[in-house]
Amino acid sequence: AAAGGPQYLSGLNPEQREAVETLDGPVLVLAGAGTGKTRVLTTRIAHILSQGRARPPEILSVTFTNKAAREMKLRLGQMLGQAVEGMPWLGTFHSIGGRILRVHAELVQLKSNFTVLDVDDQVRLLKQLLQAEGIDDKRWPARMMAGLIDGWKNRGLMPSQVPAGEAASFGNGKGGKIYATYQERLKILNAADFGDLLLENIRLFRENPDVLRGYQNRFKFILVDEYQDTNVAQYLWLRLLSQAPSRPGLPLSAVIPGRLEEANPESRDQEGSSRESGLAPDSAPRNDGSPQPPTRNICCVGDDDQSIYGWRGAEVDNILRFEHDFPGAKVIRLERNYRSTGHILAAASHLIAHNEGRLGKTLRTEDVDGEKVTVTGSWDSEEEARAIGEEIEELQRAGENLNDVAILVRASFQMREFEDRFVTLGLSYRVIGGPRFYERAEIRDALAYLRTINSPADDLAFERIVNVPKRGLGDATVQMLHDHARKRRIPLFEAARAVVETDELKPKARGSLRDLVMQFDRWRAQSEVTSHTELAEIVLDESGYTEMWQKDRSADAAGRLENLKELVRSMEEFENLQGFLEHISLVMDRDGDAGDEAVSLMTLHSAKGLEFDNVFLPGWEEGLFPSQRTLDEQGRAGLEEERRLAHVGLTRARRRAKIYFATNRRIHGTWSTTIPSRFLDELPAHNVEITESKGGSGWGGSGGYGASRFDNLESFGSSYSTPGWQRAQANRRGGQNRGGSGFEERQSSFSGSRSGTSGGFGQARR
Ligand code: ATP
Ligand code: MG
Repeated sequence: AAAGGPQYLSGLNPEQREAVETLDGPVLVLAGAGTGKTRVLTTRIAHILSQGRARPPEILSVTFTNKAAREMKLRLGQMLGQAVEGMPWLGTFHSIGGRILRVHAELVQLKSNFTVLDVDDQVRLLKQLLQAEGIDDKRWPARMMAGLIDGWKNRGLMPSQVPAGEAASFGNGKGGKIYATYQERLKILNAADFGDLLLENIRLFRENPDVLRGYQNRFKFILVDEYQDTNVAQYLWLRLLSQAPSRPGLPLSAVIPGRLEEANPESRDQEGSSRESGLAPDSAPRNDGSPQPPTRNICCVGDDDQSIYGWRGAEVDNILRFEHDFPGAKVIRLERNYRSTGHILAAASHLIAHNEGRLGKTLRTEDVDGEKVTVTGSWDSEEEARAIGEEIEELQRAGENLNDVAILVRASFQMREFEDRFVTLGLSYRVIGGPRFYERAEIRDALAYLRTINSPADDLAFERIVNVPKRGLGDATVQMLHDHARKRRIPLFEAARAVVETDELKPKARGSLRDLVMQFDRWRAQSEVTSHTELAEIVLDESGYTEMWQKDRSADAAGRLENLKELVRSMEEFENLQGFLEHISLVMDRDGDAGDEAVSLMTLHSAKGLEFDNVFLPGWEEGLFPSQRTLDEQGRAGLEEERRLAHVGLTRARRRAKIYFATNRRIHGTWSTTIPSRFLDELPAHNVEITESKGGSGWGGSGGYGASRFDNLESFGSSYSTPGWQRAQANRRGGQNRGGSGFEERQSSFSGSRSGTSGGFGQARR
């Protein structure tokens, strides 16, 4: 380790140190997980400040989340031995973009106090516009349009820049017009949506070179973390800011071979998300000392193997093109991983090596081998949650701090089972990067319907869903119901019943409200005769609530639908609606802020950049992980992105990585047999240990079976169970299984068709 120099530099390896100390010119740190990229960025800021090269307000530093920004500020303070005051430009793309936009709002036809619309406002506005254009909302839902516009904005496309054919394929050929009118309306409303925070910022810079120059001059240093996940809009924004104020001509074409035709970044937005493959930095021309245009001091760090936001428009190409975009860039590779012990790192590296589209890199650790990555099978997701709960309690007894324990799931619906389990066990937990399961908007909506059925006097519940989905019962109607209820001292729902008998409401609203009241009466009658889970399905269906999300094209709609199914599934564990709702209020009652020590629960996506001593990775099953939806929609590219996600998951672990899969998942009331994830096959046997499930509660643990199909893992031997055993267990749990033989057939046909080995379930188990 390099000795000498300021304290914060000691301990860095030579490559890290080079990345920190190369302050002039563009620098790209392209390196794998846990190699200290984020640490390099933070140290670089400390270095810039302590060398007096810039003051805090002259440094632009972009992180992927607000949490990461806070973290960085904290670390910086520790390095410099004093709290860092005034790093106003350390934050996410959107927070910084929004900040700049407020200062110059009038230049983009806004006022500085403009409001930022949320998705609901966005949809409401679009709905009006679609109506005005006479476009059928049923065929072209407003939510779909909102998703489309977001996509265009991620690609940096103003209305005039959307390829005509693409815009015309929506809304009877009027997609482009809707987008344009939408932008105009936002201006009239003095509002911006989330995408505008960057897009309007880009427009601001393009149309006002003097403003742009001001920021170019101000930011002496630009730093970007997680560069592999920037989308086109973010890229364009960075490019504008990082150009030298007096950039001569268009020198890029001079140093870049012909196949990269565009000489300025702006032309790139026309091609949208088209991919230029084969642009590995190695193939880039060497800069031979010929005169280069002055470039800014920009330092980006990233890892192509951790690019996991392709579905949100991120372009891993940005990282591959860095040397072209920033001539004279110094590319630094870090190879030593400081985070994970040997087995974990080896398993993660071996897994990601199955991807074709990657730059490839070596990662080594000087740490001990440590514990092997464990793979544990369990009967179903309930057993999985129980097993993980027990393991965590064991870790706790062994003196581990709960803050060093994380559970990383592929889909948010998986969290429900863990949250319920933790509440039962009294284990503190916190959900990172999103609300807790029962606090999600779609879950609260669904619960509001059920609460209204269960107790008609629950005004809060009724008010929440009276106009969700939209049924023409706006604020005025609700206000009137309130007045009525207050005057007569009756619940809101009863006020509704009374009001529809009068002519106080306009006919349309009146009809709509009457329908709703009648629906609730019918549901209440049904609740006497049908099971509460069935009732929930009926309500979600008949109310139009499920349909509302089915029509939604925003990126998270599918996840919400999954959550709704999971909600219904969770109800099966309770005897009746009353019992279920009591349980919910218990769960919700728990302090949201889990106190000092808590297990972290989050999706793999939100785990980016984080690290924990102990990482649990449940749900490694085909269909769930890799996600069937991603495979269906994106094929091979989708599979590679899922694999990068698995890689991100494993590389979060410092000392223990524990993978789980369940052989049955009960989805929507029916058993479905699952197949262990192909990613398990891709783990190196030497670094992995198959273990017994600890959650089997005396059923002998279903842990091992299924393990035998991992092509390169040793056969699990005799600990699998007999078909008779499976049938018995399934019957014990509600008897909705398809029976032992069907189960086996599916397994053998799968392993036969996929791996072609005899290591499959069916055969191995005979
Ligand atoms: P990711 O790709 O997951 O974001 P990263 O490359 O940003 O990872 P960091 O989070 O910066 O990696 O570092 C990983 C861990 O290694 C951190 O705990 C960090 O403090 C530690 N670390 C990094 N460099 C060194 C070093 N030179 N000496 C000791 N520890 C280090
Ligand atoms: Mg990092």
